[in-house]
Amino acid sequence: MSDSFETKLEKYADLAVRVGVGLQSGQRLIVRAPVETAPFARLLVKKAYQAGARLVEVLWVDDATNLARFQHAPADSFDELPTSLADALLRCGERGDAVITVYATDPSLLKDQDPELVAKTQKDLQAYLLPFSKRIVSKKLNWCVVSAPIPSWAAHVFPDAAPEEGTDRLWDRIFRICRIDQADPFRAWKDHIAGLARRREYLDQRQFSALRFRGPGTDLTVGLPERHLWLGGESKTAGKKIPFVANLPTEEVFTAPHRDRVDGVVRSTKPLSYAGAVIEGFEFRFENGRVVHVEAERNAAVLRQLIDTDDGAARLGEVALVPHSSPISQSGILFYNTLLDENASCHLAVGKSYRVCIAGGGEMSDQDYARAGGNESLVHVDFMIGSGEMDVDGAGSDGSTQALMRSGEWVD
Ligand code: ZN
Ligand code: ZN
Repeated sequence: MSDSFETKLEKYADLAVRVGVGLQSGQRLIVRAPVETAPFARLLVKKAYQAGARLVEVLWVDDATNLARFQHAPADSFDELPTSLADALLRCGERGDAVITVYATDPSLLKDQDPELVAKTQKDLQAYLLPFSKRIVSKKLNWCVVSAPIPSWAAHVFPDAAPEEGTDRLWDRIFRICRIDQADPFRAWKDHIAGLARRREYLDQRQFSALRFRGPGTDLTVGLPERHLWLGGESKTAGKKIPFVANLPTEEVFTAPHRDRVDGVVRSTKPLSYAGAVIEGFEFRFENGRVVHVEAERNAAVLRQLIDTDDGAARLGEVALVPHSSPISQSGILFYNTLLDENASCHLAVGKSYRVCIAGGGEMSDQDYARAGGNESLVHVDFMIGSGEMDVDGAGSDGSTQALMRSGEWVD
């Protein structure tokens, strides 16, 4: 007999606290969660105390509050910044607290709002939060992002379902994707994390100078920096070596592309939900690392805004390999949520790269980091390029070529 919903929810919360954020006894924990997910957030609080948390605080986030500002605030007021939540994050970053983010939002929340204003507010907030995100990318904190359904999001994923049914179905999917329905989810995660570690170690050892992606509409060469490092599954914090899994679910191994050595064309294989809009059927042409041409069947303007955020937003900050057989891809569902959708296939991200993906990157000056091939930007946005028709090769610095993936699956 399968577990009841309540039992699964308990296991999921436990997994987020113990495997996800890897909460240490005596640590403080911040939970950032949408108001609609309160029952799950409260369960996280309980599980965290049971795991030895010293203090748990919840920062509530709310789509409706966010939308109301765009709809009703005076037009000249958008230089003001909503800082109470951001300040709390900055302080928790300084203290080195653990952070769990429950990520759920209505993907079309801001679709009728001025895209320039939406982009500006995102950019301002990201700039304000830069000291916090720097701690995140240089692994000064143990953190984890999980998802939990909210009705407006579930309605996008299952448009034909009645509201409550949609939420239930989305929970069911999340449990399956996160291996919560397996007899021993903790065991399953241990094995999965070990598998990702093996891939990572192999790629680290090979030190390919570039990856080449080929598929329908895609022929892209992504240069890799010298002394790049592959990440995926479990990470460890820089100081105390606290093990954590930053995303639940996670199926990827990833590294930093070289900011100046990306050439060719790449076509998205899934829509991208960004800044309240759904961007579909898009294509980038790269020359010497920079996007020189953008096309999209829907919402091209939003995509161009993103690329124009700053210089780094027109360059790559992540290249990730995910087999087509991942549980998310097999579900055949578009989740309109990057946390889930990014684990469906191979992907790239425009914007900042993770400094920990280049050996010594955390200690480099901004100039040295750029010289080593690292990319800085206010944004980091993943988009999907993989499919069952994707081939990936690794190019050695000696001119050799190694088949890594064929028809979307690892070769070995
Ligand atoms: Zn990724
Ligand atoms: Zn990413």
